[in-house]
Amino acid sequence: MTLEDLERLGPPVRYTSDRTQAIYLHSCGDETGHFYINVTTGGWKCWKCGRYGFIDGYTDWEGRPPAPPPQERPKPPPLHTIDAQRVTRGTPQYDYLRGRGLSDDDILFYDLRMSKREKYSRQVIFPVYDRGYRGFITRYIDSEQKQWHKGPDGKWKSRTLRYLNSPGFNRQQTIYNYDKVLLCEEIQIAEGIFSAMALGRNAVATFGKDVTLVQLERLLVLPAQSFVVALDGDALSQALDVRKRIEERGRVAKVMFLPEEHDPDSIPTLRGITVKRLTETEALRVRFALARKKARV
Ligand SMILES: [Zn+2]
Repeated sequence: MTLEDLERLGPPVRYTSDRTQAIYLHSCGDETGHFYINVTTGGWKCWKCGRYGFIDGYTDWEGRPPAPPPQERPKPPPLHTIDAQRVTRGTPQYDYLRGRGLSDDDILFYDLRMSKREKYSRQVIFPVYDRGYRGFITRYIDSEQKQWHKGPDGKWKSRTLRYLNSPGFNRQQTIYNYDKVLLCEEIQIAEGIFSAMALGRNAVATFGKDVTLVQLERLLVLPAQSFVVALDGDALSQALDVRKRIEERGRVAKVMFLPEEHDPDSIPTLRGITVKRLTETEALRVRFALARKKARV
C-alpha cells in the first residue's frame, strides 16, 4: 500500500480511542471498518481478511508536488557525522530544554541531540525528519550568541545568532515534524519548532510566518480531517490567509488567535493537550482572558 493509496481512501472512518490507529474501510468488502493503520509506524492490518503490511514509502515519500531532483537538493551530512548523541541529564542542553518546558518524553519523541564538537558545544540539535530529508537545525542555548561579519560598507557588525541550519536545508519545502503527523486526525501548523512542541505532537513548524505553496500542498495531501493554523500572534493576517487557502481546497481549518506579542510557546497554560482541541470561540476566549490579565498587571 502506498501513500497515494492512502490518499484515495480519504479521511479515516474513525480513530481508536487512544488515537494511535486510524480506521478505514478495506477493499476486501469491509463495510464497518476493520482496516487499522498505526499512525506512528505506518503498519496496517485488516481484521476482516487478515492481510497486513506497511505503507510503502512511509520513510522516503517526498510529498506533492514532487521535490526537485537530488542535485538541486544536496543531502545534509548524516547526523552521525557530527557525533550527535541524545540530550542527557546533567548537561547544559538538558537544563535549557527543561527550562523551556520540555519533558524527558519530549526529548525522546523529538530525538533531541547534542554534540561534543566545539562548534556545537553550546547548541541543541533538532533532527528534521521530513520524508526523504534528514537534516537538522540547531539552537544556541545561550541567549546572547553574537556573530561578527563585515557589512556592505566595510564596517564590522554583530548579529545575534539563534539558529543554524544543516546544509541543504530548504525553508520553502521543509516541514518540521512532518513524519509524525502523516496520519493525525488534526494537524496544527506553527511557525517555530518550540511553538510546535508547545502545541502538541500533532503540530508541525514551517520555519516562518509564510506557509509556502509547497508546504501547504504537502500538508493537504495528508488525510487529516482538520487543520489548526497557530502562527504567532503578530501574524494574524497570514494565519487567516492560510485558513482561506485550506478552505478553498474543501478542507476544514481553524485559526488559533493569540495576543499580538505571543506565540504558542510563550503561554504556559497553552502547553500541551489543553490547546489541542480549542475551537475558534474558545481560542478567542483565551485571547481575551490573556489581554485582560495583561491589563491588570
Ligand atoms: Zn480486508
